[in-house]
Amino acid sequence: MCAFDAATNRIILTGRTFPLRRMSSSTDPAILTALRQQMVASQLRARGVRDERVLTVMARVPRHEFAPAPCRDQAYEDHPLLIREGQTISQPYIVALMLEALALSPADRILEVGTGSGYVTALLAELAAQVFSVERHAVLADPARDVLARLGYSNVKVIVGDGTQGFAECAPYDAIIVSAAAPEVPSALLAQLAEGGRMIIPVGAPDSQQLQLIRMENGQPRTTLRELCRFVPLISGPP
Ligand code: SAH
Repeated sequence: MCAFDAATNRIILTGRTFPLRRMSSSTDPAILTALRQQMVASQLRARGVRDERVLTVMARVPRHEFAPAPCRDQAYEDHPLLIREGQTISQPYIVALMLEALALSPADRILEVGTGSGYVTALLAELAAQVFSVERHAVLADPARDVLARLGYSNVKVIVGDGTQGFAECAPYDAIIVSAAAPEVPSALLAQLAEGGRMIIPVGAPDSQQLQLIRMENGQPRTTLRELCRFVPLISGPP
């Protein structure tokens, strides 16, 4: 038997208990599932994330599959993970906040800017109907595409390109998520947001930004300022 015991923050394995830290390098699927449950309980639910669909998919999607080998054993820890090209997979809590803010429906079509490892792409693929994800580095987009295909996500298209221009071919989108920091909201992205659509994007200076939630109402963007945050930069043009 393997289960996560929230009361003691321990994994119970065939009647014995182990501290979670010692289990993190395991490849046993039951232990990895328990680590995800612990991540959801202590990092997300305990901090106020309430969207049950978001919590469910974050308990299901194998974050370790998207982490590079040297930091795979940290995949369920409470911090960002370094991937190639100096980029990062965001901290689970920030990912959950952004997904919750978008209030996604199963029928939604999504644009993601900054595929990175493909982890958030996988979550989006579980939460919505179709995901178009733009990444400027082919060395990140190619392995992300491979792992998403290996895990069976068929409603995802990963595109190599400049996400500040969005992906006009398949616009408009019900939701847009930008996982890199912009000095200001790119106008092309606003133009590709459907009526009633939502966009979440970190906006500000390179060392500190604020999440902006933008909702398109009667053709006008309405902005709500959300949490302070720190993301890698959104960079226009080819690498
Ligand atoms: N959400 C990703 C992490 C994104 S890190 C994950 O789960 O792994 C931000 C990503 O944005 C990086 O991969 C970076 O290369 C990409 N990026 C930066 N500027 C971009 C642009 N103009 N167009 C597309 N991708 C961009």
